[in-house]
Amino acid sequence: MKITCNVIKDLLPLYLENMLSDDSYNIVDEHIKDCHECKNYLDEMKNFKEIPVDRDALPLKKIKSKLYKKKIQTVILSVMLSLVLFVITVCYLTAPEYNSYSEREVTINEVGNGLLLAKFGDDVSGYDMYSYPTDDSTGYVYHIITWNNIWNRITKRSNIKNAIINPNGEKVAAIYYYQANGDEDILIFGKDINPKGGVITLPRLFMAYYIIIAIVIAAICGLIMIIMYRNKKVINISMKIFLLPVSYLLAHLIIKGFISASYTATRDFFAVLLVMIFIYIALLMLFNITQYYKNKCN
Ligand SMILES: [Zn+2]
Repeated sequence: MKITCNVIKDLLPLYLENMLSDDSYNIVDEHIKDCHECKNYLDEMKNFKEIPVDRDALPLKKIKSKLYKKKIQTVILSVMLSLVLFVITVCYLTAPEYNSYSEREVTINEVGNGLLLAKFGDDVSGYDMYSYPTDDSTGYVYHIITWNNIWNRITKRSNIKNAIINPNGEKVAAIYYYQANGDEDILIFGKDINPKGGVITLPRLFMAYYIIIAIVIAAICGLIMIIMYRNKKVINISMKIFLLPVSYLLAHLIIKGFISASYTATRDFFAVLLVMIFIYIALLMLFNITQYYKNKCN
């Protein structure tokens, strides 16, 4: 039987890989010395073999780096969720339980040079104070409240012992202790500025406005995403902006529930901001990870 070019071509792949027996190897070797066609075919195979090796390596590297990225993002996601849990716990333990007024909570003492010192009791873990000038600008009116919290009740380690009411020597017209339940504020020092009617400190409402702003931003981004649903780049960017107000709203819900008015609005607001940052990063990671699976399916 004559060995045709077709037989040689069938053997060439094995020849290239050095997987032929010596006899077959010699037959192929002999043949390609004299046959240009098979020699060219072999050269083509050699070239072809070199290219695919590189082509295969690149996507593999890409997949590896994508997997690595996904791993990192998953780690960050769980770290952020742990941080959220941590802040929630801290907020719960330090949530103010407002003290109603008694001398055990706070006493006002003159310490010379017109300075007034507020001395706090053991079951005071924090206090809040705001002030404003009297109508005739002869002095300032102060409103003060104290609270305890679970952490302080467990550890009995309140660091708040006393505070100077008027550190710059402002003239104090009156000091009220305010109740966080809508009752009238109680005069604890000076002259009643409004003896006819009661003075009531209302909770601060600014967080309610932030909720409205967050909802509006989220709605605008949602609308953009619906209108531009075909533009992947726009979707991507507006999704990242959309997650910001969503994180804020989620954080508010976690820290404050459905209540937006607060007597300790500044504290609440910073707690919400902190949780919001963690939630936002967590959501971003979640978004990236879901994108990864989406691309994988495509
Ligand atoms: Zn041939």
